[in-house]
Amino acid sequence: MQKVQEAFEIASLRPVDRVYDKSVYSSDEIKDLFLSTIKKQGLLSSILPSIENLMEREIIVPCFASSGLVSLIAYKMFANKVDKMTYAFYHRDNNKIYIFMDNQTKFIFWINNKLLSALVAHELMHYAARNNPNEFIKFFEDDLITYFRRFFYIYGQADVSEDNCKHIVKWIFNSFEKNQAKFDTISEYAKMLDGQLKDSIPMTSDRDLFTKTMLTRILIFLRNSESFVYLAKSDPETSKLVRSLLESYKSFGIGTPSTMAIQELVFPSEVIAILSEKPHAKHLEVIRSI
Ligand SMILES: [Zn+2]
Repeated sequence: MQKVQEAFEIASLRPVDRVYDKSVYSSDEIKDLFLSTIKKQGLLSSILPSIENLMEREIIVPCFASSGLVSLIAYKMFANKVDKMTYAFYHRDNNKIYIFMDNQTKFIFWINNKLLSALVAHELMHYAARNNPNEFIKFFEDDLITYFRRFFYIYGQADVSEDNCKHIVKWIFNSFEKNQAKFDTISEYAKMLDGQLKDSIPMTSDRDLFTKTMLTRILIFLRNSESFVYLAKSDPETSKLVRSLLESYKSFGIGTPSTMAIQELVFPSEVIAILSEKPHAKHLEVIRSI
């Protein structure tokens, strides 16, 4: 207890927000450290003023949390790991990006970790998709079409046309990221998919099976992500879906993306977020536009 108290006093931490009913703490020192780390790591240094601005607007919140909260978030797998104690996390309800550190982490670990900038870029793509959707889709529609075409080919041997894929991508993006999903969104999803796959999977029974298998897994994920993780290990059909989603990143030369694959089918910004970990000019431009 004494140690924790001392750590808090040294860093002059104050509560700045609440996440899952627990306080998170920050200080000017942490913010300065965050910015100087981003500057040193190079990846995002050319857009440092934008990052600083996002921090001032409290869209990016570098903070300390109790180890209990950090492990809760890590356990739920909502977060991206920088190291054992640091997580980057876009909280949809709060509409903020938290960079969580365990309050016992030494500053030096953070400074040395090159992954931090990559994961900040990642979470910023999720934020941009939600808050600047028109700009986002304008920039990344082509990448998403490439990814989804590859996915349908690997998972269902379906050669979906660019036009059909464009429709699918836009529909998923609009239904889940741009707007809040509604009660009947999943059945609408099935109907939409059935229509767009008619050319590439002509047999009705094959198409029905494909759509049903895919949508059932999506529904399980949305209801309880932990059950989905269990199924991914134990059910061959679910692991095939996960493998196909991971393999589709090879279109961009990414061998082993660190992602909970399934999110792509609901939040396509995950694909762009993974790509942004090695940012191109357009990722940086979208961050500037937020
Ligand atoms: Zn993500």
